[in-house]
Amino acid sequence: MAGNKHIKPGPSLEPFASPDHLDLELQSFLEDASSRLCDWFGKASQNGPLPALSVMPGVAPALDGLTRKALLDDLQLIMDGAFQPSHPGSLAHLDPPPLTASIVADLICAGLNNNLLAEELSPSLSRLERMLCQWFTKRLGMPPQSGGVAASGGSLSNLMALVVARQYLGLQNEPKAVVLASEDAHVCLAKAVRVMGLDEDALQKVGTNNEGQISIELLQSHLNRLRSEGRKCFVLVATAGTTVRGAIDPLVELGRFCAREDLWFHVDGAIGGIFALSKQTNSIVNGISSADSVTINPQKLLGITKASSLLLVANRLNLIQTFSTGLPYIEPAWGEDAHGGEMGIQGTRPAEVLKLWLGLRQLGEKGIERLLKDSIDRRRSFQKQLDVSKLSVITGPLHLISCTPKSFNQNQSARWSKETRRSLLDEKFMLSRPFHNDRYYLKAVMGNPHTQLTHLSKLANLLNHSVGI
Ligand SMILES: *Cc1c(COP(=O)(O)O)cnc(C)c1O
Repeated sequence: MAGNKHIKPGPSLEPFASPDHLDLELQSFLEDASSRLCDWFGKASQNGPLPALSVMPGVAPALDGLTRKALLDDLQLIMDGAFQPSHPGSLAHLDPPPLTASIVADLICAGLNNNLLAEELSPSLSRLERMLCQWFTKRLGMPPQSGGVAASGGSLSNLMALVVARQYLGLQNEPKAVVLASEDAHVCLAKAVRVMGLDEDALQKVGTNNEGQISIELLQSHLNRLRSEGRKCFVLVATAGTTVRGAIDPLVELGRFCAREDLWFHVDGAIGGIFALSKQTNSIVNGISSADSVTINPQKLLGITKASSLLLVANRLNLIQTFSTGLPYIEPAWGEDAHGGEMGIQGTRPAEVLKLWLGLRQLGEKGIERLLKDSIDRRRSFQKQLDVSKLSVITGPLHLISCTPKSFNQNQSARWSKETRRSLLDEKFMLSRPFHNDRYYLKAVMGNPHTQLTHLSKLANLLNHSVGI
């Protein structure tokens, strides 16, 4: 707008809140921003999961700082171009709408601007993180000396777990060391072994059974073969909740297997671990208590705002022994505990624990249970409505489900999935299009609490009719 430059800009905002009195300017800024955010939520179902078109604001800072109004208008453009997890048809990935208490906690976290690196930079928050990790380990049935640390995502939690496992088994100088996991394990393991400087083939993938679970027989023969070739295996990663169908590897048997074979037992429970929190669902992840380490991602189903991931370990000293450096420029931690920055890869870290803690408190035991159970119920109800004479459906005990037309080859499934995804988006349903085994699927994740039974019937109907007779 050419006319804009003739308008005299208002005074730019004081960039820091006053330390001397209640800063009314900040208060209005927050209120205005909050009402825009609430407005964005309120219009979610009117719009679709994805924006129609999006206009980007200026990127570089102007010579003079912007006014409050101009800042909010810029923010609005980004908001208008954002993915909308609160739309009832947002079912593509593991990205549910955020819990309101979690949003508030994120705001407070930014305001406090504490640093989980060290206790003196986050006195109450460091303790909160430690206590909450311990609550999680207890709930998962892990031993009393367990502990954990929050990380900015499950990829990082898994990487840290592998580094701890390798250190524990003394294989830091062994580039040919091996990580075992199923063929359906998460792609972040491939990144982790690269970061760790291991050989190209360090990640050895074991076949799965018809349910998408790692096959113990194949695992045993694979391990025997590797050992006969002189390869040193240090960790088995069990997946509790695979990406495409939500399968759970047999955790009880794998725990015994690892104990017998002297392997570190890591459970990647980024998707499924959270089901351990409720008595109604914890049998799904039975055996998780025997893990040496567990990754859990409350950002994926509970609606904790991103990022929220925890690495829990059965003996917290293993974390400290792997990552501590002495932090020579920081006062010692209080009590016997180590600083957060000594328990993981990250140094400076936001207090991600705050939104996890407040979100859990908002839900309460009943709310957590309902959220977990409802997501499984939605998957079940949807599954029942799929026409299995046309579609091959793969799922597991969780809230993930994928389907592809029966008897399509790779090319046909590629075309079908692309076209169907597009036409579903026109109907405001967003599914994802994973490639799995030899074909493309459409996948729905039933973690969105706004998705009603009527939506599910409509979606099932559209999918059933996407396949010609
Ligand atoms: C999502 C996921 C990860 C990675 O977590 P990020 O938070 O995306 O880094 C790892 N493992 C599994 C099984 C996952 O589903």
